[in-house]
Amino acid sequence: MNEPQPSPAESQNSQEELTLAELAPARFECRSCGYVYEPNKGDSNRNIPAGTSFEDLPFDWRCPVCGARQTKFSNIGAAGAPSGFASNLNYGLGVNQLTPGQKNALIFGGLVLAFLAFMSLYSLR
Ligand SMILES: [Zn+2]
Repeated sequence: MNEPQPSPAESQNSQEELTLAELAPARFECRSCGYVYEPNKGDSNRNIPAGTSFEDLPFDWRCPVCGARQTKFSNIGAAGAPSGFASNLNYGLGVNQLTPGQKNALIFGGLVLAFLAFMSLYSLR
């Protein structure tokens, strides 16, 4: 006599609130040799199936190129999420890790500061 309860679709609803960049698994770059772990590809050498995120790698997983530990890897974001090339992400005071919107705000803020500095110099004369 028990009628089946409709199963809640909570898992689907929670995913809809994430952006594409958040849904895409982050890539991690080895700071020692530059090897990039791509979650979409996995690591065939260690039988890591494609789709395994870096956080889900076995504890003893190491860089397949130079053997560095996972602590030597840094998050470089999902493919295509941050602007700029992956090899540039660790340079330039982290500016390359900003989103285009943040970059525009930084550039505009810099222009305002430069203008104010110029005006203060001008008023000194
Ligand atoms: Zn490495």
